[in-house]
Amino acid sequence: MKKIQMVDLQGQYQEIKNEINDSFDGVLSSATFINGPEVQRFTVNLQQYLGVKHVIPCANGTDALQIAMMGLGLQPGDEIITADFTFAATVEVIALLNLTPVLVDVLEGSFTIDPKAVEAAITEKTKAIVPVHLFGQCADMEALEAIAKKHNLYIIEDNAQAIGANYTYSDGTKKMAGTMGAVGCTSFFPSKNLGCYGDGGALFTNCDELAHTLRGIVNHGMYTRYYHDVVGVNSRLDSLQAAVLNAKLPRLDSYNEKRRAAAISYNSALGGHADIALPVMASHCGELDVKNQGHVFHQYTLRILNGKRDALAQHLQEAGIPFGIYYPVPLHLQKAYTDSRYKEDNFKVTNQLCEEVLSLPMHTELDSEQINFISDTVLKFLS
Ligand SMILES: *Cc1c(COP(=O)(O)O)cnc(C)c1O
Repeated sequence: MKKIQMVDLQGQYQEIKNEINDSFDGVLSSATFINGPEVQRFTVNLQQYLGVKHVIPCANGTDALQIAMMGLGLQPGDEIITADFTFAATVEVIALLNLTPVLVDVLEGSFTIDPKAVEAAITEKTKAIVPVHLFGQCADMEALEAIAKKHNLYIIEDNAQAIGANYTYSDGTKKMAGTMGAVGCTSFFPSKNLGCYGDGGALFTNCDELAHTLRGIVNHGMYTRYYHDVVGVNSRLDSLQAAVLNAKLPRLDSYNEKRRAAAISYNSALGGHADIALPVMASHCGELDVKNQGHVFHQYTLRILNGKRDALAQHLQEAGIPFGIYYPVPLHLQKAYTDSRYKEDNFKVTNQLCEEVLSLPMHTELDSEQINFISDTVLKFLS
């Protein structure tokens, strides 16, 4: 059996090595390291793939979130509602910009922000909602859009974990993750579903005016060279990273199909056990099928019930099977983000998930022998 890894970037590279190496040679010999033709090409390719009017590349996903908030003109004192159960980047940029983060609970099934909790947290100061499309499936955008419309709020999608996923509205319309809000943000960190070989990120929007503003902000607030109209940052996707992304983007759907195939195999091996809750597809995702893009399984995350998660984790570690606990601590309990306004009662689901979640290896190179071995090890321990 091949060595089991949480993420197998080496195996994926071997398959596209010639193409990547050729385009690296091209970048090196033209010495167009920043804003070269690979970056222009990737911008257009991703716009076409997502069906969105504007893609603005930047240096990483965290920057994308920060730049989105700057571009929308959010001001100190404005309240931004986001999920308590996610990676810290989302709340970090809100705090960095002196905006006020308002963390709310998530749904037990999909692990995504709870629209009812969002609505309950709205005040006159609320300006935006940041849903995170966690582990590869979209938050309940239809409900969130209705709330945003009613209260005149922006939606900023954190799509770092769900690129290539789609969302189905109740009338049957489908939209790509990251293209539904005022602005969408993504990360091309190597282990994401569309990862480069360093750091990278992008913003998406259908609004011409916002796109123009964002393009200036990523480039020191310049719209004309050496004329700085607004305060900006330096956040660029470099040409070598864009070359990797140009090679991988045409394969993204098939990469996501491999992830779904792995999820289907895990589900059939692990389903029906009293100590295991399988990942839940929200109704806007449709059924789990290799071809259905409703969920792109950035992570395959189980809930291990009856207090057995930590013992199982210990056992997997001893058996040499990698796993992840995403995430072990709710954001509202992190030292940097505690706030006396938070009440534990409002975070029941997140608090519980942090005790129960366990993510198994998930990537494009997993084979059935590995999946069977991992599943058998889990089941033998829990039996
Ligand atoms: C990875 C990630 C980010 C940050 O992306 P970077 O490119 O690492 O800055 C933001 N939000 C979520 C949910 C992520 O998973």
